[in-house]
Order: sequence, then C-alpha cells, then structure tokens
Amino acid sequence: VDDSVEELQRRAAPDPQVIRLGGGLPAPEQFPRAPLARAFLRALDDAAAPALQYGFPEGSARLRRFVADSLQARGAAVDAGEVIITSGAQQALAIALEIACRPGDRVGVDRTTYPAALDLLRTRHLLPVVNGDESPRRRAVAAAPDAAAVRARYCMPALGNPSGRGLDLRARRGLLAGGGAIIEDDAYADLRFDGPAPIPLLALGRERVFHLGTWSKTLCPGLRVGWLVPPRRHLARALRIKRDSDLQANSMAQAIVDDYLASVDFGARLVRLRRFYRQRAARMARALTRHLPSWHFCMPQGGFAIWVEADVAADERALLDAAFDEGVVFDPGSQFRAGGAATPLAMRLCFSAVPADALEEGVRRLARAWRRLGERPRMPLTPALSPSETGRG
Ligand code: PMP
Repeated sequence: VDDSVEELQRRAAPDPQVIRLGGGLPAPEQFPRAPLARAFLRALDDAAAPALQYGFPEGSARLRRFVADSLQARGAAVDAGEVIITSGAQQALAIALEIACRPGDRVGVDRTTYPAALDLLRTRHLLPVVNGDESPRRRAVAAAPDAAAVRARYCMPALGNPSGRGLDLRARRGLLAGGGAIIEDDAYADLRFDGPAPIPLLALGRERVFHLGTWSKTLCPGLRVGWLVPPRRHLARALRIKRDSDLQANSMAQAIVDDYLASVDFGARLVRLRRFYRQRAARMARALTRHLPSWHFCMPQGGFAIWVEADVAADERALLDAAFDEGVVFDPGSQFRAGGAATPLAMRLCFSAVPADALEEGVRRLARAWRRLGERPRMPLTPALSPSETGRG
C-alpha cells in the first residue's frame, strides 16, 4: 500500500467528520461486546488459567475441532489435528507462501485482489500474475503466456475482496486444472448474502490446497484469531514456521473465541450478519446509482464492499485528495491490482462500517469530489467489466 495513501487514511481515521468508505472494517455495533466480556471473565476464572498460560503452536483443541467440523460440513475431509490456529488469516497466508514459494516465483492472483497479499508477495520477492480465470475473453487478454509456470495461485473462490463476487464453476475448474499449489483465502466465505459458505476448493484438492480463514469478519479482527489447513504433507513444516514466528496464537484471544462459540448460536449470528450487510450493500448501491450514474459496479454477492470502476483515465490521487477535502475517503483501486494500475479509475467502497444515512452522504460527497475534478478523457472499459456484464447500479 502506497505510504502516502496510508498517511491520508490515518489522518482520516480519528476525524468524526470524515466518512470512511474504505478500510474494510466490520460494523462495530455488530461486535458482541457483552458475550465477549463474559467469555473473557470466564477465561480468567479457571484456576489453572490456561488463557494466561503458554499453549502449543497448533492452538486450542476446541477451536481446531470447530474449524474441522465447519469444513467437513462443507464437504472437505479435514481432521481437527490438521488445523493450525493462527494469528489471523494474514499469518496463515504468510506461512502458506513460505512453504509453497521461493523468491522469484510467479504467483497467480485474481485480477483484483487483497492488497496485503500483494504487499506480502512483493516483500517475499514473488511476482504476481493474473490468474486469468474471470472469463474466456479475459483469459485471452490477461493471462500470462506462461501462466502454467506459476508456482502457486492465491484466490478467494467463495467471495473475493474487493470484487465482492465468488468464482463461478468454470473459474474454479480453471484453478484446479492449473498446476502448483492453491492458496484458498476463505476470509469472507461466511458472509455471502445468499446463504452458507459454498464447497471450498480444499474439498476438491486436499493435497494441493492451503486453506485459510478467520474470525475477523464474523466476530472481530482485534482478537486476531484465524486458521490454516495446509496439505497434510506440509503440516509439520507449517507448525514449525508457526512456532518460529510467535510460538502460538494468543491464548487469551483463543479462549475468548472458544468460550464465545460454545455459548452462542454462531450459525444464527451469521444469518443476522448476512442480512445486515446485504441491507447496507443495497443502500450503497442505490446511492451510487443516484449520485454517480456513470460509474459501473457489480452488485456484491457478499462481504463488506462494492468494487466500482469508471471507464475513464482519471487522476486517482487527485480524486482521493478532493474526496478528503469533501469529507470522505475510499480505497483507491490501484492498491488492488497486481500491477498497481490506476486506470481505468477504480475504487473499493466499503459499506460495512458506515451507518445507512452516512453511506448516502458519503457517496454524495464522493460525487461532489468527482465533479470538482471535471471532465476527464475517456478510456475503454476493461473487458472483464463491460456494461453488458455488469449492468449499472
Ligand atoms: N484475507 C482477506 C481477503 C482479507 O480481507 C483479510 C482482512 N482484511 C485477511 C485475509 C486477513 O484477515 P485477518 O484479520 O484474519 O488477519
């Protein structure tokens, strides 16, 4: 992530006047604060105090069982002993990349992808190339000619960040047909608006897929608890890397999540969350259609954000600055593209952590900033996001 963009986002964060349509944060009013407080107190109550003690690198037995049960219910053959509880999905991703890749390797990524994954690839001297799985047309223009040479493919089949869309059957088949490891990021899988998480790629390629997930989106990111299910032959190595890195995931955080999951109907919570975020998504979509009718977007199938593209070559940084002056910030599209391209103009607009009224006002401010930039030269749409495929608003 560009340091100057991060600087702007940091400046915007504490200012209540600024509406933050970026960040990808869960809605704070959905944090189950009272149940988490009770879970915390109960964790302290245990005389042996395991929540305050060292544990083992693989993490809490009950959390591992919970993850294995959830994945089994989705058709994946996973034993609790094959799950590693990590410090968020981010650490799971770092471990998977360390095992699957060597510096200089090419790694497949979605056409738009998670910026912290791109950052990690760069730090590890790995070269991102587009998976080329969005559509046959897209494949013709975007896939690297020697895409078969990618060492691993990083993807979000259930629900993409920032696309807000899952991969269709053809794209999933394309991923499995290619060689190499698959790193399946399932961070948003439980937040599809249409219901429970789909069959993971893990179920179709148990020995090739590194599967990672997190409670950051469905519970809260501050506790930093996620998981990794590596291919079985890599389990011991993954555990060694985990131990070398931080010995184990935070005992107290694991104890809280464990107690919380045991004391609530988490499935019912997911149903409520899906409805809540679906309503916010609809609200933002209506505001975009009303205030920025010339911009294009696909209605998200879940998650926290709408990915928006305008078929123009505008100055992304100038728009970000104008928007900040108007009192709104967004995530610039260049952060989500492997090559860092800022054209066509694109952005991730997060509806997740903004109250409904502020959502409308935020989009109105964005439209004002856009008008201030004035007319810009038009660029052709990217093939993967033509109006016929996406519709408008
Ligand atoms: N993958 C994706 C797609 C994400 O959006 C995020 C969080 N922004 C992560 C992984 C990392 O999640 P965690 O908080 O569990 O480290």
